[in-house]
Order: sequence, then C-alpha cells, then structure tokens
Amino acid sequence: MVNIILLGPPGAGKGTQARKLVEERNMVQLSTGDMLREAQSSGTEMGKRVAEVMSRGELVTDEIVIGLIEEKLVGDSAGGFIFDGFPRTLPQADALGRLLARMGQRLDAVVEMRVDDAALVARITGRFTCGNCGEVYHDQTKPTAVEGTCDVCGSHDLRRRADDNADSLKQRLMEYYKKTSPLIGYYYALGDLFSVDGLGEIDAVAGEVAAILDQDRG
Ligand code: ADP
Ligand code: ADP
Ligand code: ZN
Repeated sequence: MVNIILLGPPGAGKGTQARKLVEERNMVQLSTGDMLREAQSSGTEMGKRVAEVMSRGELVTDEIVIGLIEEKLVGDSAGGFIFDGFPRTLPQADALGRLLARMGQRLDAVVEMRVDDAALVARITGRFTCGNCGEVYHDQTKPTAVEGTCDVCGSHDLRRRADDNADSLKQRLMEYYKKTSPLIGYYYALGDLFSVDGLGEIDAVAGEVAAILDQDRG
C-alpha cells in the first residue's frame, strides 16, 4: 500500500493521473476540489459559502478542507490514498501528517508535476469532464471518440467548470505560487519529493509516476 500526494498547479494533470492510478492500482482518490464541488451542488451551508470563493479562484479555508479529508480517512484504503489537490498550504500539510500518523500510516511519495504556465492556459481552457463518471477530457489533447458522449460510460452530461477560464486561472496560479509551491521545499526537506515532467503525453507521465511508486514501495 502506497500513499501519495500529487502536487502541481491547476491543469498540471493531477486528476488525470489519479484516475489512472485508481484503475490500475486500486488506489483511492481523494480530491478536495471534487469534494467541494459536491458540497456546492448538494446545496449545504458549507457548499454555499465556498462557491463564491472557488469561483474567484481563491483557496477555501484550511479548516474546511482538512475537515473534508478527515472524514474520508477512515476504513480500508485498498491500494493506498492519492491526495489530489490537497494539501495546498503548509497548515494543510501539517494536518495531513498528523492524520496519517494517527492511522498508523505514512506518506510514501509526493509527486510534483511540472508544467509551465503557458501550457496551463491551454490545459484549463480546453478541459471538460463527464458529470456521471468523472472522466477528464480535453478539446485538443483528449477529445471524446464520439462528440458529446463519454467514452467510459456513454453519458451525454459533459461539463465545463465555471472557474476554468483565463481570468480565474490567473488568480488560481497566484494562489498556487504564494501558498502551495512552498510545499515543494517542505517535502523536499522531508525527503519525500519526486518530480515528473508534466508536459509529456498522458501515458508518458503515467510511466514516470509508476516508476516512482514502484521504486518507493517497501
Ligand atoms: P484544479 O484541478 O484546477 O487544480 P481543484 O479542482 O483541485 O482545481 O480545485 C478547485 C478549487 O477548489 C480551488 O481553486 C480552490 O478554490 C478549491 N480547493 C480545492 N482544494 C483545495 C484545498 N486543498 N485548499 C483550499 N482550497 C481548495
Ligand atoms: P489538474 O487535476 O491538475 O487540474 P487535469 O487532470 O484535470 O489537471 O488536466 C487538465 C486538462 O489537461 C484536462 O483537460 C486533461 O484532459 C488535460 N491533460 C492532462 N494531462 C495531460 C497531458 N499529459 N497532456 C495533455 N493534456 C493533458
Ligand atoms: Zn462518463
């Protein structure tokens, strides 16, 4: 069992790689972005509060996302956890360390996905996802085989995120550099950091991630 963090700016490919690991290694994907969007669409008080923050491209409070993660860190983790989009701040990183320790578990690797900013604009503005099964697509790099139909589940419910526009991306990148990128140094110091070239094709990136997981196992 391996627990990993996928770390990288918006559009780096974290969700795409996480889904492959779920399928190929029976791991459990924990995406705070997905959890927050679920809370939004279920109309809870918390969902309403975070909707505006997310649409502005700012981070929601540590308290909220740590609470969401804590709820999920129970029971059997099968092939291990993939933390996707969490932690995004140093307090979140500290909290994750404590939560794992409490479960008698540890972090095996933090995979930094390197993609330059220019590529991120194209990644984000071309992204769409299946509302039914969550598969992630891209207008140019990963279109559906049949237009308007999910390859995986056949659903026609293909969606674009409200915050996937150039303006919001600018704000999200600022948040990333200010608050999240310090985690690279933090995990380097702990000896947990590995980097992959996120600009390669999806399968090439997956190969690099697999090499890290296999090397780290045991
Ligand atoms: P992306 O796929 O573009 O990296 P996510 O789906 O992970 O984006 O996150 C979307 C938004 O949800 C973020 O811009 C932020 O507002 C909020 N969010 C997600 N995860 C966190 C987190 N760990 N801490 C604070 N805010 C978060
Ligand atoms: P993140 O979760 O880091 O925000 P996603 O996995 O949602 O990123 O990917 C962002 C967009 O880029 C999606 O439209 C996805 O299909 C596409 N994408 C992901 N990885 C690659 C890659 N290696 N090459 C080209 N496009 C990619
Ligand atoms: Zn689908």
